[in-house]
Amino acid sequence: MNKKAMYNLSYGLFVLTAHQDGKDNGCIINTAGQVTSTPNRISIAVNKQNLTHDMIKATGKFNVSIISQAAEYELFQHFGFQSGRNVDKLDGWVYAQRAANGVVYLTKGVNSYISATVEQAIDLGSHTLFIAAVEDMDVLDDTPSATYAYYQSNIKPKPAKPAAPAGKTMWRCTVCGYIYEGDPLPADFICPICKHPAQDFEKVQ
Ligand code: FE
Repeated sequence: MNKKAMYNLSYGLFVLTAHQDGKDNGCIINTAGQVTSTPNRISIAVNKQNLTHDMIKATGKFNVSIISQAAEYELFQHFGFQSGRNVDKLDGWVYAQRAANGVVYLTKGVNSYISATVEQAIDLGSHTLFIAAVEDMDVLDDTPSATYAYYQSNIKPKPAKPAAPAGKTMWRCTVCGYIYEGDPLPADFICPICKHPAQDFEKVQ
């Protein structure tokens, strides 16, 4: 079995937003897709560690803003590399508007948004898969959508590979650059910054 086949699945990138008790929040996901057209439904898979997950579970409403090739790295840092449990990500983020469903969507670095209402929530262990009815949507500009591959090649800065001190081994998260010191990297290790698994780390000798 060649596990690298998984890398050849293509993914989009999205800012998933929710609203609960007067609070807005959002996170980055790469797992939104249309699953039926009549009626129009989308699915999203969301890590349970994300505050946005709990807000969607509680309210049944969310927006998906589709990230475009015009997005800057700051968007990923802001919505992807920090938790809404510690910071109010929408406070002062001026590139956002409130949709008819009461949930914000982003207006910069994205080309469209979709508002949806949850019909089914399927427990997948680490994630919940939400199946949701599309309630509203709009196209904001015609910049092509950013795929995960586009992000890796064109948006994410290429950090210089740090040199490990002689005799030491480090593991670097290829998603956010976090460094784990020690060897081996535990197989169940989760990056504390971006929550990606051990498979997304590379060895730095
Ligand atoms: Fe990371």
